[in-house]
Amino acid sequence: MQRRAVLKYIGAWGASAAFLERDPLFGRPAAGSNLIAFNQAGYPQQGEKIATTQMEVRKDQSFQIISEETGHSVFDGRLTPSSTDAASGDAVALADFTPLTAPGKYRFVVQDVRSQPFQIGNDVYAHPLILCMRAFYGQRCGCAVDLGDGYRYPACHQADAFHPSSGRTGALPNHGGWHDAGDYGRYVVNSAITTGTLLWAWELYPRSVQELSLRIPESGGKLPDYLAEVRWNLQWMLSLQDLDGGVWHKQTSERFCGFVMPQNDKLTSFIIGTGESPYKSTCATAGLAAVMAIAARCYREYDEGFAAGCLAAAKRGFAWAVAHPDIDFVNPPGIATGAYSDAHCNDYILWAAAELWRTTGDRQYDQAFLHGQQALSLENAIVAPTWTNVAPLAYWTYVLGERKGDAAMRTRVLAQTRAAAQTLATRRRSSGYGNTLDASDYVWGSNSVAANHSLLLLIANRLQPNAQLLDAALGNLHYLLGRNCFGVCWVTHLGTNPYLHPHHRPSIADQLPAPWPGLLSGGPNATPADKVAQTLGKLPPMRMWLDDQMAPSLNEVAINWNAALVFLLAAANTLAR
Ligand SMILES: [Zn+2]
Repeated sequence: MQRRAVLKYIGAWGASAAFLERDPLFGRPAAGSNLIAFNQAGYPQQGEKIATTQMEVRKDQSFQIISEETGHSVFDGRLTPSSTDAASGDAVALADFTPLTAPGKYRFVVQDVRSQPFQIGNDVYAHPLILCMRAFYGQRCGCAVDLGDGYRYPACHQADAFHPSSGRTGALPNHGGWHDAGDYGRYVVNSAITTGTLLWAWELYPRSVQELSLRIPESGGKLPDYLAEVRWNLQWMLSLQDLDGGVWHKQTSERFCGFVMPQNDKLTSFIIGTGESPYKSTCATAGLAAVMAIAARCYREYDEGFAAGCLAAAKRGFAWAVAHPDIDFVNPPGIATGAYSDAHCNDYILWAAAELWRTTGDRQYDQAFLHGQQALSLENAIVAPTWTNVAPLAYWTYVLGERKGDAAMRTRVLAQTRAAAQTLATRRRSSGYGNTLDASDYVWGSNSVAANHSLLLLIANRLQPNAQLLDAALGNLHYLLGRNCFGVCWVTHLGTNPYLHPHHRPSIADQLPAPWPGLLSGGPNATPADKVAQTLGKLPPMRMWLDDQMAPSLNEVAINWNAALVFLLAAANTLAR
């Protein structure tokens, strides 16, 4: 996100100083902090359970877990000796309560401090999964949205037109898709990894998502709610495909609007191109091809016509991208919204080839994949995916499907994925808060890095089951939902201490006391770009976060981040049952 976002917010300041109510709660812990940090959404019955305390503890300090129902102690354990956690600089002691598996509501007691309550149970992630998936409905553009409890707006962004940079002119009614992040732009590249991640969750964890009730306008129709919500964005993506198969990069206004509700943003929403022939961009086109190939698999059972249309779009997009492999997108003159610029799109073409091969079994796509991968080092490519690097998705889809591909390639992908997962699982052992992040991972959107580490770990576990990898994947979930140095849950409306001030226009503009529900914060960033972040000075990387709506580099939300969290929650929910 960083390269885009630095570009994204130049000139956006000063739109409204009225919203600068700062929350100073999230600095360094006071000496003698009594924080006990744990997953505020709860824990499944099986699997590792560890809480972190910042309390100054005696040698051999015990802790108890008491039942909320009876008030009696149900578990007696010993804290580890205090040690320094490098990422936060905190002195921490750990409370391992893995043996406690009985479902119920509990509290920790350490010395005379009682924690907030928490749950153990195999359904603890059912609600968070719905909350975070339903957040996509809250990002919809072009239709009336009503999440309940006052979180609503009428159809927004009704004025559309081709921008001259698209090679076309004139008005064009083109509504739909999801608002990308804290702004109201819609970007094909980020839509691709978002919908790809969500559809992978559909394929890998059907038990969690097939029956999900999202209470959206399409509920009760022929599609399961989950697929209906994803389709809302797929249809908008399809609308950006030109007749020649190429895909325009984005649909946004010329600049970011002020901090207003979506229906009050009256700027024209332009379909924006590269400014010169062929006007469409390679990453957007290949990204659409990859995702439509996945969609062809997922929707076939429910809507054959839509699935066939997706497959045709995927094939046309792939052919265009192969014929135009190097068309990067940079903002044309007069455009100041996010660029999602990426000079190397061969990872996108590789992903499209692999998904098309998995869907169709057509040898030409297998050959395209095997040829394309020669330019990308597999040994470097298997990392947590990002919108700038979708190569791991290409390699994984090549081995996840039922097609018998190149056996040597399969062996290499399995070995490299296992090695990458093992590195993360090992690193986690030195984290006082149980995450897999390295110091260098605390970047813009580090919470999505953690979620995508989990995606890597979960894919590795799918290819070669290993309980250690699952514990590591869930460890990041525990971190995101409360076991972190702030003891904050980084999902709005979840847990006993959720963050409150996302950089998210509807949350800022709607006058409601709490932000919009189900949104993941970007999280700590060792090198923040925001003025308000200067108050932090230089702290250890995990401490570099503020719950401030004017700090996009610390506290924005984004559809691709939420998608990685939905994937993780879908996995956790399936594994717990
Ligand atoms: Zn809109």
